[in-house]
Amino acid sequence: MIYDQARWTEDDERYEPLLSEKEAETVETDSPLPADLTRDELTLPGPSEPELARHYTRLSQMNYGVESGPFPLGSCTMKYNPKFTEDLAAHPAASVHPDRDPSTVQGTLAVMHGLQEQLAAIGGMDAVTLQPPAGAAGELTGILVAKRYHESRDDERSEVIVPDSAHGTNFASAAMAGYDVVSIPAAEDGRVDLEALEAALSEETAALMLTNPNTLGLFERDIERIAEMVHDVGGLLYYDGANLNALLGRARPGDMGFDVMHYNVHKTFATPHGGGGPGAGPVGVVSELAEFLPRPHVRATDGGYELYDPERSIGKVHGYLGNWLVLVKTYAYIRRLGDEGLADASAKAVLNANYLASQVEYEVPYGPFHHEFVASAGDQDAADVAKKMLDHGVHPPTTKWPETVHEALMTEPTEVESKRSLDQLAEAFNAVVGESEESLAEAPKRTAAGRIDQASAARNPRLSWQALEPEE
Ligand SMILES: *Cc1c(COP(=O)(O)O)cnc(C)c1O
Repeated sequence: MIYDQARWTEDDERYEPLLSEKEAETVETDSPLPADLTRDELTLPGPSEPELARHYTRLSQMNYGVESGPFPLGSCTMKYNPKFTEDLAAHPAASVHPDRDPSTVQGTLAVMHGLQEQLAAIGGMDAVTLQPPAGAAGELTGILVAKRYHESRDDERSEVIVPDSAHGTNFASAAMAGYDVVSIPAAEDGRVDLEALEAALSEETAALMLTNPNTLGLFERDIERIAEMVHDVGGLLYYDGANLNALLGRARPGDMGFDVMHYNVHKTFATPHGGGGPGAGPVGVVSELAEFLPRPHVRATDGGYELYDPERSIGKVHGYLGNWLVLVKTYAYIRRLGDEGLADASAKAVLNANYLASQVEYEVPYGPFHHEFVASAGDQDAADVAKKMLDHGVHPPTTKWPETVHEALMTEPTEVESKRSLDQLAEAFNAVVGESEESLAEAPKRTAAGRIDQASAARNPRLSWQALEPEE
């Protein structure tokens, strides 16, 4: 379905006025009643309920979400957030004050402990902290845990190795933890280049950060060899869990030799991504690293649950135990799907990515894929392709990353899309294939905002209406 979004600009016929601008209606009456019993004017109440509903629906459509249509933003795993998890998070019993005595919130702690156990089982880890508030925060936490581990052995190391196709947060997390970041190129088949890795590894290597499948959607077949190589120099293997949706219920980072990992619950476990709002990025570790996890941590006692501070904890990385209501949704999703449902999700995510890759007329180097594929826009500018796809009523893929593919279109449909919506996506891709540079430059035409200055929007955001200065 394609519709024109409302506009912010008053001179546009699609302008959606503010409620305060919607004038109250006035009727003039000509009444048979005596003059002293009538009014000259009658002002009707402001917008009616249906008008209000339409106004807010129209505003909500000025953005594009997974409830508007398919949202194949690669690496981001934009899956639908099922409503039953919202209902559970909104349950009165879920609103507990974080300062309550643990003895009075045993149910809350039972859910947290249960989630720690579930995530540990899913990742093949021994202990999990739920405290970090995002994937990137999980990365920093995990790297700080690794650092504290090395320090505890009087083994100071200065480097973290990151493949050049990695997510930008990997480089940032390693640098924030105080490490020198060593970037290694990919081999010709898009996977880790073992020779480059060998050359980069040394006694200075604190950790190698890796996602598997990698950002090209390719499984690192040599992962066991890679783990051996890293461990041989005394380094740790960090798993960037953003691509866990491909492995869910089928393979576990712990079994591949990873020592520490984060989970992006908004990617893998269907909690909302939010707009930088409260999220969760739990971190799992093998038993040797458990004593360094953030404090406090939930553990089981004889008849219940308690909070305790791991012995050599890195400290706190967020208030209290993390973003509890997000964790409730994670827990509910995992419980509802169960082992079979989780394995089914990853199977369909992989099937959907490969089906869509087969339907897209853009060149798709590499493959077969796991949860996502990267096409090349060829002579076209990938960002232009994305803008044009918006006019076809779908959300575009991630563009220009990883840089190892020319004008990359990184596409991840997730398991939630039906064949019908995958075909709709393929049609949108294919409609743009032959478009001229001029036509691409004009897109998007149907969205509330046209081309925006993305760099300024990111660096100099004005986040409230009041911050808008009147234009001269
Ligand atoms: C999304 C993502 C991250 C960061 O996670 P956030 O929860 O967005 O902070 C890290 N690595 C990869 C590969 C990702 O896709």
